[in-house]
Amino acid sequence: MDLRLSWRFRDNSVRELKRYLEDYSAELIVVGCLPDIDKDLLESEFKGRFINWRDDAGKLESLFGDRGVKLADIPRKLSDDPVTDDLDIFRKENPGKDVQFIDQFIKMYVAEGCKFECSYCSEILAFPAYHSFPEDQLVAECRRLVEKTGRHEVILIGDSVGEYGSDIGTSLPNLIRKMCAIHPKLQIALQGFNPAHFIRYFNEMNEFIDNGWIRHLQLPFNRLLQSFSN
Ligand code: SF4
Repeated sequence: MDLRLSWRFRDNSVRELKRYLEDYSAELIVVGCLPDIDKDLLESEFKGRFINWRDDAGKLESLFGDRGVKLADIPRKLSDDPVTDDLDIFRKENPGKDVQFIDQFIKMYVAEGCKFECSYCSEILAFPAYHSFPEDQLVAECRRLVEKTGRHEVILIGDSVGEYGSDIGTSLPNLIRKMCAIHPKLQIALQGFNPAHFIRYFNEMNEFIDNGWIRHLQLPFNRLLQSFSN
């Protein structure tokens, strides 16, 4: 396996852009990670305008003008309600609706970016510099959702969730302890928990598992979509 598989996703995106241009008589503006991942290809294959992820605040304003509200002024979304507590039943009752494993949990978005520099990673070309979201806001938002939904399964989501807090003077174990103090039944799921971080926090993770605080761990030895590395 090599980068050619990753490029298939890129090439498929470019094909889709061309199809949209043929199928619809409207201006097409490309947004998302592709303009950061392969700007040269995009410029050679697509003659329209695009907003690259890293510069989206400025580009939005230059394309759509000053609408009185800046992207930076819009509060960041830190969480999502769970969609269901039973995926199988939900799928049976809602045929065609797309639900994933993480939709069983209260979702908390804890950080963006990744400090690793894997040579095969295409996503890192689009990520912003690593930044954690404020711990007090995350804990308050988690408490609000636990009280609102009566659910106690919380999944922490980030491009590199194990790095949480390293830029703001705290850490993932600190965040987990504070969240688990919200309710005795609360359990944490970790998505994209890099094995290097598992080793860094090996003692804490053992303690958390013994406490019954860990519901699910996903350790990506090879994160499929962005790497396809052997
Ligand atoms: S492959 Fe994963 S760990 Fe490596 S740079 Fe990309 S997101 Fe970070």
